[in-house]
Amino acid sequence: MRILLIGPPGAGKGTQAVRLATHLSIQHISTGNLFREHIDQGTDLGQNAHTYVRAGLLAPDEVTIEVIRQRLARPDTVRGFLLDGFPRNLAQAEALDGILADSKSRLDAVLNLEIPEAQVVRRIAGRRLCRQDREHIFHVHYNPPEVDGACDICGGEPYQRDDDRETTVRKRLEVHRSETAPVVDHYQARGLVTTISALGQVQEVLDRALAAIGHGQVDASGASSC
Ligand code: AMP
Repeated sequence: MRILLIGPPGAGKGTQAVRLATHLSIQHISTGNLFREHIDQGTDLGQNAHTYVRAGLLAPDEVTIEVIRQRLARPDTVRGFLLDGFPRNLAQAEALDGILADSKSRLDAVLNLEIPEAQVVRRIAGRRLCRQDREHIFHVHYNPPEVDGACDICGGEPYQRDDDRETTVRKRLEVHRSETAPVVDHYQARGLVTTISALGQVQEVLDRALAAIGHGQVDASGASSC
């Protein structure tokens, strides 16, 4: 399956993307994580992207599209992928249309996570990522690590993203409203979009997402119930 996950910051895209991709045995591809890896490694691309990421602005399209083009060319995407954080504007959506057309493939579904903006700042303020593996995501109130200061899965140090501070979050919300919301209309016109509420427990949102793409519910252990 080839799926896009769209939603404002704080909707829980990363959390749901990891679970959905695992359940469906497809690759989770997050442009935000790809940029953060480049930034940590100090590559040219990372240094270029850092200015934008820190300010809550979109990195330049040519850079972002090239990162995705190269990632989608890798053989591990043959079984499918879930794109988390791409496309974030119409130019990127059109570029993705072209990449998929070139490889004679198409999208199966677009999941649009919806959350009231008032909830976003509250949710994001408590979000922590593991330094060793950014797929391990915690929340100081809703999902704290069992041992303070250590990731439950690998023992890495949970940290707060620079761009999760309130002023930057507000900027990111503005960018989502003006640039990313039109992407939903782009795919709506093709009947690919299902909008689901991002409110509630992680498992509830996951169940909604799986139902939206025609898959059975899973219990908390990850086993299918139908
Ligand atoms: P995320 O982890 O998806 O919230 O992304 C973090 C930051 O990475 C964003 O605020 C942007 O600065 C940058 N970024 C991620 N995805 C994209 C994209 N598709 N286009 C441009 N910039 C992006």
